[in-house]
Amino acid sequence: MSEVLQTYLRENLDDLKQKGLLNSIDVLEDHNGPIIKINGQEMINLASNNYLGFASRDELKDADMAATKKWGVGAGAVRPINGTLMIHKELEEKIAQFKGTEAAIAFQSGFNCNMGAISAVMTKKDAILSDELNHASIIDGCRLSGAKIIRVKHQDMDDLRQKAKEATESGLYEKIMYITDGVFSMDGDVANLPEAVKVAEEYNLITYVDDAHGSGVMGHGKGTVKHFGLQDKIDFQMGTLSKAIGVVGGYVAGTKELIEWLKARGRPFLFSTSLTPGASAACIASLDLIMDHPEYVDQLWDNAKYFKENLERIGFTLSKSDTPITPVILGDENKTQQFSNKLIENGVYVKPIVYPTVPLGTGRIRNMPMRTHTKEMLDQAITVYEKVGKELDLI
Ligand code: PMP
Repeated sequence: MSEVLQTYLRENLDDLKQKGLLNSIDVLEDHNGPIIKINGQEMINLASNNYLGFASRDELKDADMAATKKWGVGAGAVRPINGTLMIHKELEEKIAQFKGTEAAIAFQSGFNCNMGAISAVMTKKDAILSDELNHASIIDGCRLSGAKIIRVKHQDMDDLRQKAKEATESGLYEKIMYITDGVFSMDGDVANLPEAVKVAEEYNLITYVDDAHGSGVMGHGKGTVKHFGLQDKIDFQMGTLSKAIGVVGGYVAGTKELIEWLKARGRPFLFSTSLTPGASAACIASLDLIMDHPEYVDQLWDNAKYFKENLERIGFTLSKSDTPITPVILGDENKTQQFSNKLIENGVYVKPIVYPTVPLGTGRIRNMPMRTHTKEMLDQAITVYEKVGKELDLI
């Protein structure tokens, strides 16, 4: 290895370790469900985005296997050349139906969907008003576009209005976009879309909502935009197929014209091989299940409420979250790491979330109750929280 590289890696890895910022990556020995197995130990899993438990649901597995048998394991090419299979078309039609839009485009992941979709529309002649807590893939997509990035204070609609006014009146930009997570992934708060839409209408902003954590969770499963009844007001309804949907992939739902443009200019669509047929079929099965069974979403919320109430009952103060995402914020990174280690030792699997995922000094344990946790599992987790919380003087 080059000496320069070796020194760089050693110094920086040591630095991360000392600051408690180097996450160990555990290997699951069975599927990602409400109970997981790591190093032979079974644990209650509160770290997953598999909200509805669909990642190992039979209907999805059957759809995946049937499509793999019919279409093969790989799509064979990038979409425009030779890689658009009937199953991709069906998936995009299903997403559009799910989101109540004219059309949709599927990408291979939520991350590259944001990279591709933002940069397909915004250029260095434009500006993007971006909530300061937006997901990394939004930040990277904005950077890639070359547009001027104007950070908006988190969920501060006065700041948004002020910055939209300044950007408009500067006359410097051809287009201005407002981009926000629908549900903020590390805090669980829901974007104030009704107010943001008012500002957008006042200043002619393009609107882009990343609903990775809202789809399958908010609006009876149909997402945050639907929750507020704003389907006609949001230009880009972006989402991922990897969380509540349970599989992998990302998408934008919108007008026919927007989707036509993204298919012509979205670089991951143009230059990266399409989703596997199996994954596409599993996503279709998942979206059908969510649309046909809103009670699954209700069960998720019921579990989340139960878990939150009991954490508070035993003495934890929870930060504001409007969704099943349940962060316990400790602040200090090393303390967060210690708390997570102890919870894991006692059979509750939660990971420390620290910088750069969240700002420095706001380390937290993020709990993700799932629809498929039983009340007994949640009770057991609460018992462990009480024991460890007392041991570490947190409650
Ligand atoms: N946007 C948000 C808000 C997310 O939380 C995530 C997942 N961490 C993504 C985009 C990326 O999605 P994916 O995992 O499908 O690439």
